[in-house]
Amino acid sequence: MIKFLDLEKVTAKYSAEINEAVSRVVNSGWYLQGKENEKFETAYAEYIGTIYAVGCANGLDALIWIFRAYIEMGVMKPGDEVIVPATTYIASLLAISENGLVPVLVEPDINTYQIDPDRIEAAITPRTKAILIVHLYGQCAYTDRIGELCGKYNLKLVEDNAQAHGCRFNGKCTGSLGDAAGHSFYPGKNLGALGDGGAVTTDDEELARTIRAVANYGSTRKYVFRYIGRNSRLDEIQAAVLDVKLRHLDADNARRKDVARMYINGINNPSVVVPYVRDWDSNVFHIFPVRTERRDELQKYLTDNGVQTIIHYPIPPHKQECYKDWNSWSFPITEKIHAEELSLPVSPVITDEEVNEVIRLINKWQV
Ligand SMILES: *Cc1c(COP(=O)(O)O)cnc(C)c1O
Repeated sequence: MIKFLDLEKVTAKYSAEINEAVSRVVNSGWYLQGKENEKFETAYAEYIGTIYAVGCANGLDALIWIFRAYIEMGVMKPGDEVIVPATTYIASLLAISENGLVPVLVEPDINTYQIDPDRIEAAITPRTKAILIVHLYGQCAYTDRIGELCGKYNLKLVEDNAQAHGCRFNGKCTGSLGDAAGHSFYPGKNLGALGDGGAVTTDDEELARTIRAVANYGSTRKYVFRYIGRNSRLDEIQAAVLDVKLRHLDADNARRKDVARMYINGINNPSVVVPYVRDWDSNVFHIFPVRTERRDELQKYLTDNGVQTIIHYPIPPHKQECYKDWNSWSFPITEKIHAEELSLPVSPVITDEEVNEVIRLINKWQV
């Protein structure tokens, strides 16, 4: 069987270094808020190109903390609006709602699947305080137009970089393009831990300091509590593992791009749409999404022929029960993507033979 993502193989590739890092922490007797966090945060900030990186428990928390900190800083208040793409993983919206802010959904571009810069301005109201862009599927969502709108309307630009570690726009990493970015180190992400993990990157000293506090019981000094915080920390073992994997991230992403190139050059079935690539720096192919009107049939055909695929995502956020007031709203482009998208296997460990087999099967598929 060709697996969608063989995590065992992903870890095995660096097992010597990972085992060394894990035993170092196990034997150190220090498991939280120590040297490994410091080391990884420094390395990650340097890699992304920001002054600060603050580790936290997971990617959803990273996004939650950004908005929470802006509220604590008086930059936003509950009831304010945040523009977010209608096509995204639910976590992007949850982080906004969790803080009592209001997500305002904007349709994506049908070619890039990213928030449509030309539809953003119409969604801006006097209550809009931020745009949360999501580099969905590993593709950069930022455009100069989005930067201009943030300047014109004095909006914070927040990036959801959960799927795009190592993705670049004009040489700069996503995660350094706006005011703050949330990153996930969920095991299946391009930079994945062996469990949950997340981080915020920013150049804003006050924001970094506030996030460090709210994610650690609201504590500014030991036993001194300024905020009603929570416990949301990155542990030392995960930080040590991430520090190892960060060193290999560019090589892993390069392999993902090779796979993507093979798919794009190889797939010639006229009923299957391959992703649009603006340029090869601005996509790290966390996901390789194809589209077809007979998606469920294609998925079944590939399953029957031993290829695992996943749908990202089967139900759009506005059709979810947790946002039931929005269920009757219509976002036709978003709904089309959710009805037609199918993710093919892509990872740093998939072989050329496996990729060629997927291509062969898709080209042979009759519609
Ligand atoms: C994975 C993901 C998150 C959440 O990250 P977790 O670490 O799983 O909490 C947020 N946004 C997007 C777009 C994601 O893909």
